Amino acid sequence: MPSFVIAEKCDGCKGRDKTACQYICPNDLMVLNKDIMKAYNQEPDQCWECYSCVKICPQSAIEVRAYQDFAPMGSSVIPLRASDSIMWTVKFRNGKIKRFKFPIRTTPEGGIDPYHGMPEENRREGDLKTELLCTEHGKTLLVPKK
Ligand code: SF4
Ligand code: SF4
Repeated sequence: MPSFVIAEKCDGCKGRDKTACQYICPNDLMVLNKDIMKAYNQEPDQCWECYSCVKICPQSAIEVRAYQDFAPMGSSVIPLRASDSIMWTVKFRNGKIKRFKFPIRTTPEGGIDPYHGMPEENRREGDLKTELLCTEHGKTLLVPKK
């Protein structure tokens, strides 16, 4: 089932230019109604149910209703992401609740060096945006003629 926003919980990411759910959706499905500052999935049929928006929403305002073979009627599977871990709250049909917490990174947030392992001469600003692999440094980039 596609994602949906629980309007009462959504705060529109406090009016930032781009909301967290808009930033993360790989299919550009989430939009913000600026009049009421609530987000919504503009095209549920196109939702991949990837859970990315569910995991990133700081207000836990997005849910994906899981299929019944995975989460039978009345049960739910809700993620809550922190900077270093994710907690899955699994509610069973009989009301029983179990929580599972997993680490999601081995480095401090913001601590990754994107140039790690690249030759020193390739550590120039902008090199990450070229089509060349780091081992192709110095080779001519072939641009097809129009
Ligand atoms: S990420 Fe959550 S709080 Fe932010 S706009 Fe989307 S649904 Fe609302
Ligand atoms: S579940 Fe994935 S594809 Fe669907 S709206 Fe959320 S981020 Fe986009």
